[in-house]
Amino acid sequence: MPTPRELIAANVARTRERIAAAAQAAGRDPAEIKLVAVSKYVDAGAAALLVSAGCHALGEARPQQLWEKAAAPELAGVEWHLIGRLQRNKIRRTLPLVSLIHSVDSARLLAAINDEAATLGTTCRVLLEVNCSGDAAKQGFTAEGVRALLPELPNYAHLEVAGLMTMAALDGDDAVARANFAALRLLRDELARESPPTVMLRELSMGMSGDFEIAVAEGTTIVRVGSSLVEGLRR
Ligand SMILES: *Cc1c(COP(=O)(O)O)cnc(C)c1O
Repeated sequence: MPTPRELIAANVARTRERIAAAAQAAGRDPAEIKLVAVSKYVDAGAAALLVSAGCHALGEARPQQLWEKAAAPELAGVEWHLIGRLQRNKIRRTLPLVSLIHSVDSARLLAAINDEAATLGTTCRVLLEVNCSGDAAKQGFTAEGVRALLPELPNYAHLEVAGLMTMAALDGDDAVARANFAALRLLRDELARESPPTVMLRELSMGMSGDFEIAVAEGTTIVRVGSSLVEGLRR
């Protein structure tokens, strides 16, 4: 029986190999793709094994769980990513902890984050979450919503809007995921051409355990992988 440490190290190594193989197949440099290890399934102790295995960027879907783990001594120095829904009353506590918020899903939230960052005297790096699948249950802007917001972005002096994020349709197959990811990339390319000069939409956050290789083929720059990294772990 492998120890949890060995198990996680092997999972991380295999996931990195799969990312590299998918990148090479697509003629991309694997170094262009950032792995955010989603630690939401495990406690701080197991999350620290992800860090030991070389994952220095961790993602949490719930602000409270991010706060808890960010306070854990064994996770000091981690680069935190919020990948799930942020309620406005949780912005204040979350902002100082995170390096990127992937999940900004409304203009109202964007404005509230900007206000809070102004109060703190900082700049907050965010992605706009786009609902490419059209799933009614999913959060996120429509493509038209993001287009309409684009000219407003320079008004948010305390935000760096770095790109777009999406999740593929829950009940879709690989072809659906590919279409969702291609749609996000095309939208990013279109917006990047039209965006005000101070707005750099470089990042695409797309791809999870079930579909990250497809996302790499479709140009993702950030994958958010959870289950594949903790597979086999008793939890
Ligand atoms: C949980 C979660 C992930 C990771 O999903 P896995 O399928 O476990 O890799 C990625 N993105 C978001 C937004 C999540 O909530």
